[in-house]
Amino acid sequence: MLPDVVHLEIGEPDLPTPAHIARAAEEAISSGFTHYTPSSGIIELREAIARKLSRDNDLQYDSETEIAVTSGANVGLSLTMLALVDPGSEVLIPDPGWANYEPLMKLVDATSVRYALKEEDGFRPKAEEMEALVTDRTRAILVNSPNNPTGGVLEKSDLEEISVLAKKKNLYVISDEVYEKLLYDEAQHYSIAEFEGMRGRTVIVNAFSKTYRMTGWRLGYIAAPKPIASAIVRLNSCMNTCSSSISQAAGVAALNGPQNCVEEMVSEFKARRNAFIDGLNDVTGFRCAKPRGAFYAFVNTKAIGTNSFKLCLSLLERAKVATVPGSSFGPNGEGYLRFSYSAPKQQLDEAIRRINSMKSVLGTLPEVRT
Ligand code: PLP
Repeated sequence: MLPDVVHLEIGEPDLPTPAHIARAAEEAISSGFTHYTPSSGIIELREAIARKLSRDNDLQYDSETEIAVTSGANVGLSLTMLALVDPGSEVLIPDPGWANYEPLMKLVDATSVRYALKEEDGFRPKAEEMEALVTDRTRAILVNSPNNPTGGVLEKSDLEEISVLAKKKNLYVISDEVYEKLLYDEAQHYSIAEFEGMRGRTVIVNAFSKTYRMTGWRLGYIAAPKPIASAIVRLNSCMNTCSSSISQAAGVAALNGPQNCVEEMVSEFKARRNAFIDGLNDVTGFRCAKPRGAFYAFVNTKAIGTNSFKLCLSLLERAKVATVPGSSFGPNGEGYLRFSYSAPKQQLDEAIRRINSMKSVLGTLPEVRT
């Protein structure tokens, strides 16, 4: 990390892993629970995941055959691609969307076809535009709600329309739900697998990373129909053997333990979001609606009239505030900067103060490295 830089580029909760979860890991180590586990994960964890899916999403999955523990959502997504997507096929991905989706497609020699999430639509997709992108080679649609980087949340009606499209065109849906608990105001999370006829064609990808502040523990899971889940388990066995036994023990404590740690984190992020978005909107040339999910502000900087990479560098060099250029999330991200508000309030205030003290961000950019 660069010294004296306010780091708002990082995509993880800044708060520590809750103490009862860390304690479960310590107990796992001291009791010698430090060996290989089944490639699908320990049954106690798969059962806890099945109960979570039933409780939160009203979805019933068989813990023996339809759930696999993975080393984070990233590995869950990679294994899902390997299991589902043939070389030469196409997968619809959100634009803007998480920067790893595109390389994941390259990993399996598939082509990513980007569907637009536009600010004027609240960063929600239009099903008719998605349908126009479907070809004979399209294999799956990837949905991510709440979305990284926009913080946009899909409405029930959006998911309904995507479900209709997936069924009409006989497509799988890969549903990246890692930010499902990070919701504000009236926003609600629905898994697309809940919609009629969708459970059999959906792979839910989720993780402990954001909900339980466990990014470094590398723990996630997939839930899918048996043939897909068992392909994923076999791939996991070849590539990763199993997820860390210690992290899995912690995962059981996370899902079975008190959930007020999640609620407290969400209310902390909500307070930060409210103050930070107001501060950002006071910066000349910045515009940002209140995001309803995740912990990102996706700020429209088009009025400044420079590309997002240059603007990002300028903020880093002149204001010592680190952000992510919108263009790294796809062509539709150009003209935006992503700020993470997963940082203490005084750092968020300091970032705004520094940006404002660059005299005017608008039109007075210095020479920057390109
Ligand atoms: N999906 C999205 C949308 C993300 O933003 C991230 C991480 O930032 C991941 C997946 C990866 O999560 P994990 O750390 O569990 O691999």
